[in-house]
Amino acid sequence: MEEKTAKSLNFIEEIIEEDLKNQVYDGRVHTRFPPEPNGYLHIGHAKSICLNFGIAKKYNGMTNLRFDDTNPVKEDVEYVDSIKEDIRWLGFDWEDRLFYASDYFNELYNYALILIRKGKAYVCDMTADEISETRGTLSRPGKESPYRNRPVEENLDLFTRMRNGEFPDGSSVLRAKIDMASPNMQMRDPVLYRILHTSHHRTGDQWCIYPMYDFAHGQSDSIERITHSICTLEFEVHRPLYDWLIREIGIYAPRQIEFARLNLSYTVMSKRKLLELVQEGKVTGWDDPRMPTICGLRRRGYTPEAIRNFADIIGVAKRDNVIDVSLLEFCIREDLNKRSNRVMAVINPLKVILDNYPEDLTEEMEAINNPEDESRGKRKVPFSRELYIEKEDFMEIPSQKYFRLSPGKEVRLRSAYIIKCESFVKDPSTGEITEIHCTYDPKTRSGMPESNRKVKGTLHWLSVKHAIKAEIRLYDRLFMKENPDEAVEGKDYKDFLNPDSLKVITGQIEPSILRANPGDKFQFERIGYFCVDKDSAGNNLIFNRTVTLKDSWVKIGKNQ
Ligand code: ATP
Ligand code: MG
Repeated sequence: MEEKTAKSLNFIEEIIEEDLKNQVYDGRVHTRFPPEPNGYLHIGHAKSICLNFGIAKKYNGMTNLRFDDTNPVKEDVEYVDSIKEDIRWLGFDWEDRLFYASDYFNELYNYALILIRKGKAYVCDMTADEISETRGTLSRPGKESPYRNRPVEENLDLFTRMRNGEFPDGSSVLRAKIDMASPNMQMRDPVLYRILHTSHHRTGDQWCIYPMYDFAHGQSDSIERITHSICTLEFEVHRPLYDWLIREIGIYAPRQIEFARLNLSYTVMSKRKLLELVQEGKVTGWDDPRMPTICGLRRRGYTPEAIRNFADIIGVAKRDNVIDVSLLEFCIREDLNKRSNRVMAVINPLKVILDNYPEDLTEEMEAINNPEDESRGKRKVPFSRELYIEKEDFMEIPSQKYFRLSPGKEVRLRSAYIIKCESFVKDPSTGEITEIHCTYDPKTRSGMPESNRKVKGTLHWLSVKHAIKAEIRLYDRLFMKENPDEAVEGKDYKDFLNPDSLKVITGQIEPSILRANPGDKFQFERIGYFCVDKDSAGNNLIFNRTVTLKDSWVKIGKNQ
């Protein structure tokens, strides 16, 4: 924690402190998070949320939530609601500052009229294809539209009629009149308004022309008197256009600062692709625990603290880069280590019979809930003659460094006794080991002096007759390829889906688990971190694996 205060400023904070020093915005810091409600938020958005709300908090400022809802075709209230829920869950509060770009449709329309009257915007009747064909390329200037020099009066008349619904979709657009030869393609008479006879989720049928994102975004920031408009790098080339619009309209100018968007290895982040995965049934929904969405991460068992810490650790960069997803996994492990109670669960059971243990006896063993946090206390775990251990914790012929159970060897059962393997039963037809016979040493009960006797292996275990069955969903990374977005001839990102990203098994858990509720998080000792799924209820217990105890991808990745 000390480290945090000592941390040097990032480049955005440097700019802000400079502005504060120079009283550029009267000492105000006012940011916004401006999602388009056309999908669920993902971990990249979380980065932007933490940045915008975090900076405002640091400088006693404010943050608006603004829905950039200028495209009625793709937007929906379902997304609006989920976005609000996710931001709150992450731990941020926009208080009474919830806005919609659609609230500004009147102002934006009036700004368009200002530009037309100044001769800075014109109605163009070219088709979308013609407009893109005449835009030119980076090395070749564009061609001016034949409608570019329409008189102001004609533009005013046509734009009003566009707004009144006299023309069909696509028949004309309003364009800024800037420079068709500009080296910046964004400045080549960009489209400001288009005709769309489509109902909007908020304004209904009030409008049949809608502002383009580029016309709405900067002006919305201006209307809300945002001081620092933080956005991702791809908007750097749009900045001259935003500045031009603000200047020509003659309104308050925020400062735009660009940072590199978060990219994660083994992950796709574009909303279009995430929607495709949902629509094509590659995942079970936006909140599938394999999705990089905030609701997916939540269902997977991620905590807001871990995500915020991740956002903090990665910082802000000025150049595009890819963050290793194992860093995100590290953050959740670290958080859950402190936060989650331990329980014993066996996911691949092998029966152990203690031949010298009384038939009807059940003992209550005391187990520590969280060795990292004494205040979490202890619980009782029942112990009896027949136990489960993991199959992989027994080897008939142990390899050199195998310190778990094998014939003639001793191991410690966590919080219980030291046991010794006397014999085992093998299915003659399959060769599978079906049962282990052991003896226990009553003097080694946990807590008694002889329990400290040196044995190398410690295993987790369950009492067969007390174990609770549960569905356990073993999630893994959704993609096998480090960069699934990378263009590979004849393939797309969906060809790199990991066929083993979900394995469903029936496991056994200690009975204390019956007190758990959906969302509760546990460390299954020696196995990993798990949380109770939202659909888990009554006898139908469902657990999602959040993350394994150790990074199992390190080696695999290196061999590729
Ligand atoms: P996508 O490309 O996934 O569709 P988007 O940028 O179109 O995302 P918006 O809803 O417009 O999605 O994003 C809202 C805010 O979140 C914007 O300010 C955007 O810059 C930011 N943002 C989106 N993706 C990322 C990311 N990967 N890293 C950081 N910030 C992001
Ligand atoms: Mg966007």
